[in-house]
Amino acid sequence: MELRKDPITRSWVAIRNGEPQEPPAEPCPFCSGAQQPAPPLLTLPENSAPAQVRVFPQTDPLFRIEGETARAAEGIYDKMRAVGAHEVIVELAEHGRRLSQASDEEIARVLEAYARRLADLKKDDRFKYISVFKNVGAAAGQEIPHPHSELVATPFVPRRVLHELRSARDYWELKERCLFCDMLRQELDQKTRLVEATENYAAFCPFATRSPYEIWLLPRRHHHSFETDTRRAATAAALARLLRHTLERVEQLAEGYHLVLHTNPNTSGTLQRVGFWKSLPEDFHWHLELMPLVAHKPRPYIAKEVYFTTVAPETAAARLRALSVTD
Ligand SMILES: [Zn+2]
Ligand SMILES: [Zn+2]
Ligand SMILES: [Zn+2]
Repeated sequence: MELRKDPITRSWVAIRNGEPQEPPAEPCPFCSGAQQPAPPLLTLPENSAPAQVRVFPQTDPLFRIEGETARAAEGIYDKMRAVGAHEVIVELAEHGRRLSQASDEEIARVLEAYARRLADLKKDDRFKYISVFKNVGAAAGQEIPHPHSELVATPFVPRRVLHELRSARDYWELKERCLFCDMLRQELDQKTRLVEATENYAAFCPFATRSPYEIWLLPRRHHHSFETDTRRAATAAALARLLRHTLERVEQLAEGYHLVLHTNPNTSGTLQRVGFWKSLPEDFHWHLELMPLVAHKPRPYIAKEVYFTTVAPETAAARLRALSVTD
């Protein structure tokens, strides 16, 4: 596998010949009693058997941990080796349970596993960014049936996050304020797109939503880094609860969803030397993005190039708020 940079959009893409092999679904390698695919990299709670959360390296990873990135040129093009890490975060011991059905304590433990793996992988300065995401449902491309999240460490910052980082930095240079904090303040004020707010966190449908019922979840107190936000650790149960409510709402309307964590890139290596994100702790604000997948008819071509939704975020938020959640 190789990474190639699109010189027009300046974004990296992974090129691989052939489909990756997913671990066999039967028997499930993540169920208790099964032959585990590898020794776990992390288990939570620590020193407890059976563990609730177990993190494993992906058996057929997109990115390999060994070697140097070895950037090279091919004429005007840039390429590099696909050095990185790919891990499976097994969230719960039980095969048939969903994260939305877990207790707040259990969900907090899954989020804690995200934070621990992020902190650990960021010690390796070959990795510029660590993506943590979760695909639920066939429509979202869920391939492993056991409840899980995935983590991919890459030697580049993915395009969407890079756009966010650049735009947050530009806003900071202009106003010396965090774009996300400003956005959040307005959403809490206007309330039309707000889904649920607690003392420390808020969930709302973004103004320029990309798909029906898209929801962002943010800490109300500014922090750029999910894994070092000490307030997150102190309010873990509150975050878990809001996430559970949000998932419960989404599952009543959608057949699946993508959940993705956006946090600060790894600035310990070359990014720091470049001095790209000097204001990063002030300008970026970690958040979770939830993209539900609702059944829909095929779209005209334009919908593939331009985000297009048939549910306005104000309508979406009103419908989401009206849905019942378990206390
Ligand atoms: Zn299983
Ligand atoms: Zn902020
Ligand atoms: Zn984001």
